[in-house]
Amino acid sequence: MAPEVLPPGGIDLHTHSSVSDGTETPANLVRAAAAAGLGTIAITDHDSTAGWEPAGRQAKKSGLALIPGMELSTRHVHASVHMLAYLFDPNDAGLVAETARIRNARLTRAEEMVQAISADYDLSWDDVLAQTSEGATVGRPHIADALVAKGHSLTRSDAFAGILHWRAGYFLPHYAPTPKQGIELIVAAGGVPVLAHPATRGREFIVGEAELRVLVDAGLFGLEIEHRENTDDGKVRLYELAEKFGLVVTGSSDYHGEGKPNRLGENRTHPEVLERIIARATGSTPIYPTP
Ligand code: AMP
Ligand code: FE
Ligand code: FE
Ligand code: ZN
Repeated sequence: MAPEVLPPGGIDLHTHSSVSDGTETPANLVRAAAAAGLGTIAITDHDSTAGWEPAGRQAKKSGLALIPGMELSTRHVHASVHMLAYLFDPNDAGLVAETARIRNARLTRAEEMVQAISADYDLSWDDVLAQTSEGATVGRPHIADALVAKGHSLTRSDAFAGILHWRAGYFLPHYAPTPKQGIELIVAAGGVPVLAHPATRGREFIVGEAELRVLVDAGLFGLEIEHRENTDDGKVRLYELAEKFGLVVTGSSDYHGEGKPNRLGENRTHPEVLERIIARATGSTPIYPTP
């Protein structure tokens, strides 16, 4: 039996692989984290746990601890709200059904967006599939990669600032549960919910204090404050709210491989915070490295 201790090295609790919209396979994501000198990462693909097994296998070999996680898509009125979920039971029927529903809705929505875009640009659904790993959670990043491959955009970020921006007229929403429903599902599956990047640029707070109180009552455990897309003013306010509601504070990169400028370990989480998340969870356990 491996001793159940976290290895030395930084802790990054928000990363994506090709199971959703990251550009590296789960195993290569773990290799990149080891190369970056991290000791622990959470794999948090959008609406999918398909990366847990391959990432876990590689973590054991690379001497990293892996925290199984997910970034659940939710929606508050019109705003997309991302809910990080850690150490839940991946076979929980409620969460399995809901994530399947979201992934299906994302697929339909992406096809409809491509249909609309194809009226003005040479772009087919096959072009998007060519940028998507089999079974991956499909999102705008895959459409962005197809737009880049077809020469309509220079980079993913360029596509997001242009053709994929809601102002461009091709954007469509997809089904997602409310943040409160998301938290309830995560808690019911023995997981620990942490609100992802709650103060992203230009959007003020995606949830206000009154709504946050509702989420805390539903079981919200933490706020991801140290994230490059939270504004400086937003972070100050979030620290006040974390204190007020007794929430833990995490810091993470939101690494997407080459799909975003975010670098592994650029923000980190304190080991005591991770220990509290582990102690709270009942759905699954970290994957510790083989000594
Ligand atoms: P979707 O959920 O399909 O609407 O797409 C949102 C996803 O696109 C987020 O999860 C981000 O990972 C990614 N994303 C958002 N903005 C950008 C950007 N400017 N550059 C690259 N990826 C982005
Ligand atoms: Fe993403
Ligand atoms: Fe996110
Ligand atoms: Zn993310």
